[in-house]
Amino acid sequence: MTSTIESTNFIHQIIDEHMATGRFGGRVHTRFPPEPNGYLHIGHAKSIWINYGTAELYGGKFNLRFDDTNPTKEEQEYIDSIIYDVKWLGADWEDRLFFASDYFQQLYEWAVQLIEAGKAYVDDLSPEEIREYRGTLTEPGKNSPYRDRSIEENLDLFQRMKDGEFPDGSRVLRAKIDMASPNVNLRDPIMYRILHAEHPRTGDAWCIYPMYDWAHGQSDSIEGITHSICTLEFENNRPLYDWFIEQLGIYAPQQIEFARLNLTYTLMSKRKLLRLVREGAVSGWDDPRMPTISGLRRRGYTPEAIRTFCDRIGVSKANSVVDIAMLEHAIREDLNQRAQRVMAVLKPLKVVIENYPEDQVEEMDAVNNPEDASMGTRKVPFSRVLYIEQDDFMEDPPKKFFRLTPGREVRLRYAYFITCTDVVKDADGNIVELRCTYDPATRGGDAPDGRKPKATLHWVSASHALDAEVRLYDHLFAAPDPEDAPEGQDFTANLNPNSLEVLPSARIEPFVEGAAPGSRYQFERQGYFCVDPDSTANRLVFNRTVGLRDTWAKIQRKQ
Ligand code: ATP
Ligand code: MG
Repeated sequence: MTSTIESTNFIHQIIDEHMATGRFGGRVHTRFPPEPNGYLHIGHAKSIWINYGTAELYGGKFNLRFDDTNPTKEEQEYIDSIIYDVKWLGADWEDRLFFASDYFQQLYEWAVQLIEAGKAYVDDLSPEEIREYRGTLTEPGKNSPYRDRSIEENLDLFQRMKDGEFPDGSRVLRAKIDMASPNVNLRDPIMYRILHAEHPRTGDAWCIYPMYDWAHGQSDSIEGITHSICTLEFENNRPLYDWFIEQLGIYAPQQIEFARLNLTYTLMSKRKLLRLVREGAVSGWDDPRMPTISGLRRRGYTPEAIRTFCDRIGVSKANSVVDIAMLEHAIREDLNQRAQRVMAVLKPLKVVIENYPEDQVEEMDAVNNPEDASMGTRKVPFSRVLYIEQDDFMEDPPKKFFRLTPGREVRLRYAYFITCTDVVKDADGNIVELRCTYDPATRGGDAPDGRKPKATLHWVSASHALDAEVRLYDHLFAAPDPEDAPEGQDFTANLNPNSLEVLPSARIEPFVEGAAPGSRYQFERQGYFCVDPDSTANRLVFNRTVGLRDTWAKIQRKQ
């Protein structure tokens, strides 16, 4: 996929300056550095596009690197899903797939180098004591009593930590920087902790693991990354990353921070999304209501729409919240251009055309996509017994209801005008069937006398239509800010109880027969839908990707 980034953002301005001064010898090399502790979400897509799009724009390179430094939270399932998702989004790392765990040996040797230089020490304080000694934002920390151990003792203890002599949590290796630094990150940060844990890639080769802060910057350095693009919360870590690089005397990338993506009605923390999965609030990481890439894919989103959205929201230094209607607008726009139109009745009401011959079937011509004539037309079977939408009929309608009602004529799309002559009810008074007549002179949807009904309805032929299940979605959270929960409660209190509505008895024109999971359609008048992997050979399941009403476009018009 080629870049659609045209306007220059502040990151590009920084790079332009580096280009002008020759700081990186004209190179641009970025990376996306996920931690494999969950599935990727739409916020990660923004980071991927900034990194990949920037490399693309400057003819540079892009790496995919897993920052896999925490074996207790990381799993192969997450690694696999992330690789799949980044590829699906269209970012290409060529042959540059890396893991921080590939650098464990090098990181270890660098740690020894710092100990030898008197810049790192083994600390025996407990985790609680370390926290206590760290001080606060307003108070300086104080030195650990173990801070001034001899280099020899530190080398010996660190070796023994590596050899597995000590239990988890009993000792750590710390950088010796400044316990009084106003930047808390510089108060002798932990470089290694003891963790007797199996790592997805290195197995039990290690029982000490580097902290993210000790691994991240050096990994960028090893890979020759020029611009380490990350989110704003790492701004205060930058001096630490620079300190490590400087002490080691190795190649120094430039870190650049940008504001992370926040979306209304959406949570974007892997930790919290994991809770929703574990607690069964959703069916899994790929539940179509999840903001994960796998959820969006299952919902029917395209990589192109996600990229368009990321381009439109832009890159900035200021935190803000994007209206989710903007994301929905992007997919609606994309699918409008490419989706095959079909007719589907979600809540069927039987209609019998009394003056239509019993065994007659006609093939009506229907347009596949009015936005794209090259998609052609198809035949839709019409017969005496049809289904229309329950909502398209009212026996006793209010004034502004223009659809079908007793005695009124409406148009059936691509077919005929019909008039309702009678309403059939069951013993409880529920409407179960409509009796209608049709005007044979209106075939194709036009009357020779030029009369025009006020409404055009979609329909399917009862004996030809396929059974299907349709799943309609609303926002997963009922509050624009899911974190804004009542006193004493958390984000789960804001889960929307009506985020999923299952319609078990939808009927769809036969055109969609055999559609593979992932196939996308516009159901006329209902929105865009995508075939779900839960579909079986006999019964399709559809997810509504997005409705037709464009709230974002409306907001834009008002402005
Ligand atoms: P989360 O808090 O959701 O778990 P994270 O930052 O811990 O996210 P990482 O796997 O460490 O997740 O993130 C990989 C990259 O994606 C990082 O560079 C991070 O800054 C970026 N990223 C994460 N969330 C967002 C977001 N909402 N918007 C933009 N970039 C993001
Ligand atoms: Mg993280």
